[in-house]
Amino acid sequence: LRKRIIRAEKMEVVSHLAASISHEVRNPLTTARGFIQLLEQSHLSQEKRKQYIRIAIEELDRAEAIITDYLTFAKPAPESVENLNVKTEMERVIDIVRPLANMNSVEVQTSLIPCNVKGERQKLQQCLLNIIKNAIEAMPNGGTLEVYISIEKDQVLIRISDTGVGMTKEQIERLGEPYFTTKGRRGTGLGMMVVYRIIESMGGTIQIASEVNKGTQVSLYLPLTQSLHTPSVEQKRDAFVAL
Ligand code: ADP
Ligand code: MG
Repeated sequence: LRKRIIRAEKMEVVSHLAASISHEVRNPLTTARGFIQLLEQSHLSQEKRKQYIRIAIEELDRAEAIITDYLTFAKPAPESVENLNVKTEMERVIDIVRPLANMNSVEVQTSLIPCNVKGERQKLQQCLLNIIKNAIEAMPNGGTLEVYISIEKDQVLIRISDTGVGMTKEQIERLGEPYFTTKGRRGTGLGMMVVYRIIESMGGTIQIASEVNKGTQVSLYLPLTQSLHTPSVEQKRDAFVAL
């Protein structure tokens, strides 16, 4: 398997996720509006009419896809950094993608252990969702999605593997570059950029291993915070005081 450690620094171009969204969504909305406006012309052929409607729908789908890549878990109130149990967050995301997995005949195998990282819940979930969605989309004719969590020294390892189409060396290198997609109009090329941004902000790293027609393995390493099993000194003291 080819291995590439991709630096998160190349994502610095986009400073704030939230700030990019209105910009990203406005373009397809403007295009859709333009084509709907064209439909008002009375002399249009049936063929042209159909074509304009199709383009408008494609653009609306694109706006929706961009929102999915950024804001699936967004809440009205801003979130703060807290201790997150990776297993719980992963289970939530797997529940959400299960219909998509079923549609693609993808079997989901999990091996999850509870462990804590520091971060914002909606960002971690968004990041996991974007990686898992890519894995499932890489297996249009079925396959196996494997999700694995372990503790490696002072880091949490989250590994998401698929048996899908895989990537070439060039594709691996471009991963996370804004607008890089091999999915044509159906791709945004923003999902992995969001992933790199989030993992960077959490002080983590990403490792990609992929082989064409074999599959892809995305490994996330995040700093481990106080394990659920070994209470901190403070927790022990609080327990003592509670007695
Ligand atoms: P999008 O999914 O909208 O294309 P992403 O940023 O999520 O954008 O992914 C960019 C590209 O990286 C994809 O178009 C695809 O070519 C490649 N890619 C990402 N994950 C995988 C995967 N698990 N297997 C194969 N290719 C992948
Ligand atoms: Mg994607």
